[in-house]
Amino acid sequence: MSAPQPERERAAMVERQLRRRGIRDERVLAAMARVPRELFAPAEQRTAAYSDNALPLPHGQTISQPYMVARICEALGARPGRLVLDVGTGSGYQAAVLAELGAEVVTIERIPELAEQARANLTAAGYGRVEVVIGDGTLGLPDRAPFDAIAVAAAAPVLPQTLYEQLRPGGRLVVPVGGRAGQELQVVEKREDGAQVARSVPCRFVPLVGEGGF
Ligand code: SAH
Repeated sequence: MSAPQPERERAAMVERQLRRRGIRDERVLAAMARVPRELFAPAEQRTAAYSDNALPLPHGQTISQPYMVARICEALGARPGRLVLDVGTGSGYQAAVLAELGAEVVTIERIPELAEQARANLTAAGYGRVEVVIGDGTLGLPDRAPFDAIAVAAAAPVLPQTLYEQLRPGGRLVVPVGGRAGQELQVVEKREDGAQVARSVPCRFVPLVGEGGF
């Protein structure tokens, strides 16, 4: 079966998977109604692009579920003028939504083939201005720091301190923290008096692999 009407499927996704489940930020809802998720899904997954789950990518990775992407974007406060680091590019979909929100986005992926495909996806979808870097995202990008916000799309065993240090004062880090089998999404704000950690929804992400990961 083909997916001839991506706009309608996208509108239904926003309504059923996001708005009805408590995503309130109208800017995030509008951005996700615009980004063509089908252009980030591998060809054989395209008809499932708007389903309510993560989608498989090569190398055992996944494109995050739309609801998790919305939660992360809502928590980050991405907007024009903000510099955002997206750790775990995968397909590039999360980076595209952050760019659609007007942020300047740098994204880092450890698997070169995924990074290259993500670059092609981002260009095809009209987000060629997103910078895709190949490397270990647990180290952040010291040359580009400080960031207004950092999104991590892979599970960390503990709060990644190096990334926290690359935040601007008042900046936010959103990261799934926990074991391999399940995590909770943590929203960390860098305050003068230290890290303020708020716990958001339970989640299940692929593991963050690298120096500060598993
Ligand atoms: N945000 C992505 C979801 C990708 S899944 C999307 O919207 O499609 C998580 C990704 O993190 C995988 O592609 C995995 O290879 C990558 N990853 C895991 N550990 C990493 C690390 N240390 N540095 C950079 N990328 C990493």
